[in-house]
Amino acid sequence: GKQNRAAVITGSTSGIGLGIAEALAANGCNIVLNSFTDSSEDHALARKLADDHGVEAAYVSADMSDPNACRKLVDKAAQHFGGLDILVNNAGIQHLAPVEDFPIEKWNAILAINLSSSFHTIAAAIPHMKKAGHGRIINIASAHGLRASPFKSAYVAAKHGVVGLTKTVALELAETGITCNAICPGYVLTPLVEEQIPDQMKLHDMDRETVVREVMLARQPTREFVTVEELGGLVVFLCSDHASQMTGTSLPMDGGWTAQ
Ligand code: NAD
Repeated sequence: GKQNRAAVITGSTSGIGLGIAEALAANGCNIVLNSFTDSSEDHALARKLADDHGVEAAYVSADMSDPNACRKLVDKAAQHFGGLDILVNNAGIQHLAPVEDFPIEKWNAILAINLSSSFHTIAAAIPHMKKAGHGRIINIASAHGLRASPFKSAYVAAKHGVVGLTKTVALELAETGITCNAICPGYVLTPLVEEQIPDQMKLHDMDRETVVREVMLARQPTREFVTVEELGGLVVFLCSDHASQMTGTSLPMDGGWTAQ
């Protein structure tokens, strides 16, 4: 059969990243999981993924706020599997504050983890993918890569940046067999979103149920959260041969948010 493809997914110990890792593993990809921690749970997660799907999986700790760590993660993944076919830039953090009170260190961390890490991993991945003559780069942006919301200046700026980076990389790689696309999810009920609920409750002076329906899902016309399984399905499609002419796109999966 076809040799297993190798995929690295940044920030993949929970939420969307883990969902994408599961979907790729279910499709026969070998997987490198990543976060900034290095616990026995992290490594156990990789072993479970391998056992569940009959693929190889490894956990590699690397802090996506550190440019060298980003680049090393990619090189380690390529070394481990003898090449790299798929890079998914998913690591991301959030912080809510009015722009005049936005903590400088939070701004810097969000720009580093949500935007600059993708520049570094992409730069490191390109030589490996060029050598193979094919590759798939998928950046997890956000509906906030295409639209703005108050109190999220760093996040919105970083995600718009990811959309721009995606287009530029796609153009540079257009004749190489490597595609680069962004996915723009609406709200997905992951730990990242769970953590925003208390802040949003405070900012809007609402209870949980009201803030979820009236604030968080107010702009998501379906009034339903997107699921990590649905996002995994889109990643699997983008990694397939059917998507070889899709490059430079920013694909919303957002319950209709960006139709508005
Ligand atoms: P999450 O908090 O559940 O997972 C984030 C992952 O990134 C975790 O594995 C975490 O350990 C890792 N991470 C955080 N900081 C890191 C660092 N410095 N180095 C390495 N790894 C780090 O979040 P999520 O909701 O699954 O979000 C994943 C991505 O999807 C993010 O880029 C986020 O902006 C984007 N996104 C999320 C939603 C949503 O509604 N949840 C919507 C649109 C876009």
